[in-house]
Amino acid sequence: HHAKEQGKECTRFTPSMQMKASEKLKMENDLRRALERNEFYLLYQPQVRLETQEIVGMEALLRWNHPKRGLVSPVEFIPVAEESGLIVPIGEWVLQTACLQNKEWQKAGYKPICVSVNLSMRQFLQPNLAGKIGRYLEEIELDPKFVDLEITESMTLDREMAFDQLQRLKALGVGISIDDFGTGYSSLHYLKNMPIDRLKIDRSFVSEVMEDSNNAAIVSTITSMAHHLKLKVTAEGVENEEQMNFLNEQQCHEAQGYLFSRPIPAEEFEASFLQRNLMPLPL
Ligand code: C2E
Ligand code: MG
Ligand code: MG
Ligand code: MG
Repeated sequence: HHAKEQGKECTRFTPSMQMKASEKLKMENDLRRALERNEFYLLYQPQVRLETQEIVGMEALLRWNHPKRGLVSPVEFIPVAEESGLIVPIGEWVLQTACLQNKEWQKAGYKPICVSVNLSMRQFLQPNLAGKIGRYLEEIELDPKFVDLEITESMTLDREMAFDQLQRLKALGVGISIDDFGTGYSSLHYLKNMPIDRLKIDRSFVSEVMEDSNNAAIVSTITSMAHHLKLKVTAEGVENEEQMNFLNEQQCHEAQGYLFSRPIPAEEFEASFLQRNLMPLPL
């Protein structure tokens, strides 16, 4: 358990806080050029409806292929992009690329699925965010009901701002999910009042759900609360069948995780999932 404890210690510092100022500046400069040099790409991870094992969605996950360093984790570069404001154009690229991909697949005749896109705080703070997204979805003629925006609890600390922004986004017709749910500070009051559609139970609760009865209690409570509040619920980080079966028993609607697939390139997603639209059941 030693390594795990050390890992926990580290979570008090974000990766960007641990980086030296000079490293951060270097990364910021590299990030500044990464968009025009096409160093970013997206991977897609399937989201599975547990009742039927159908693929009902995919989460777009950003990757950066740095010319010298190779693959850099989003956990490392997103905080730097966030601090520098570069996340705004990068996030816009992610949103447009993911939505366009989803539209392409609909045009190709596959059964429509929903695409989830992670928003960052800086993006969420933009007063014209809903306008920009709305215009883009109109331009590519993608029905907003096939787009889901993921925000985190910490982005709603300024309740009034968050409420107004979420109202504007909801008015477009896109879905709103709370990512990493259970790790932030949202109150029940907020859950009752915010215009959201879905909770995504954080991976940390799911990963040890069979070993740790406290985690099982948390997962089951979040799921049951979601049902009562008429919210959808997705479990993140499902890695084995035992976890999947437990979640299904709890009537968790959807799941995502290595059990079904790691995040994969678009071509692979198409070949492995869209052409079948059924999970190969690992039973
Ligand atoms: P997230 O949104 O909570 O995404 C889920 C993360 O869990 C992904 O890590 C995914 O690869 C990983 N994951 C999925 N299933 C499993 C599993 O079964 N086991 C384990 N151990 N991990 C699993 P990834 O791709 O490294 O992304 C990390 C975080 O970076 C994301 O967490 C999200 O907060 C952020 N991120 C990624 N792409 C974007 C983006 O386009 N924009 C913004 N703002 N943030 C992004
Ligand atoms: Mg996410
Ligand atoms: Mg998450
Ligand atoms: Mg997470």
